[in-house]
Amino acid sequence: MNDHIAQLILLQGIDLEIDQIDNQIKSEQNALDERITALAQREQNIADLTEQIAEIEKEKRVLETEASDKLDHVKDRQSKMMQVQTGREQTALLKEIEDGKKSVKENEDKIVALMEQSEALSTQIDEEKNLLKGEKKLVEEEKAKVRDAIEAINKGKKSKDNQRANQAQVIEARLLKKYDTLRSHRNGLAVANVLQGVCQGCFMSIPPQKYNMLLKGDTMLDCPSCQRIVYHQEPVTAE
Ligand SMILES: [Zn+2]
Repeated sequence: MNDHIAQLILLQGIDLEIDQIDNQIKSEQNALDERITALAQREQNIADLTEQIAEIEKEKRVLETEASDKLDHVKDRQSKMMQVQTGREQTALLKEIEDGKKSVKENEDKIVALMEQSEALSTQIDEEKNLLKGEKKLVEEEKAKVRDAIEAINKGKKSKDNQRANQAQVIEARLLKKYDTLRSHRNGLAVANVLQGVCQGCFMSIPPQKYNMLLKGDTMLDCPSCQRIVYHQEPVTAE
């Protein structure tokens, strides 16, 4: 096999390992981020519930003021009863008093319903706060764990980075540049094996003439479909 390609394959092996390490770090971080987001969501829930209670309290105060006004009116009508002379006037006043009382009762019923609603929300808030407290503690522990895990992963990465730098030095600058560009545009894979005429980078067929040249193994060729640098190497079958 062409020496340049052999060097590139080695470099790509190291780079893929580094990618894997980076993905490990990312997934550790993502898992933690998700939990932090869930915490914020729960905090938002509590804030929303608290807001709902405040709204209910406001509504309740309005109903209470209304009820007290209505009650004053009923009392006023009751005192008027002493002064009225005719039965017709009496009947009208009695009706007004009855309606007033009914209306006060309606307000009181609504107030009771609101208080029940408010109590249920308070219970919900207490539950949420309890859960939040537990989760916060877990997330703090998780943070420390993830920090340690990432630190350990990064240690391994450092030696891989050194290995990468050494291997990159061996490769011609022009070729290294091409490799790096291909890697960034081709999902991390710049060099691809061709098996039975098919590029393993893009799974498209290589023209037969080009494939024959590739089998000889001394020239550097690009895949016509994905432009990756291609080579031919029979896969090693595992026992
Ligand atoms: Zn290809």
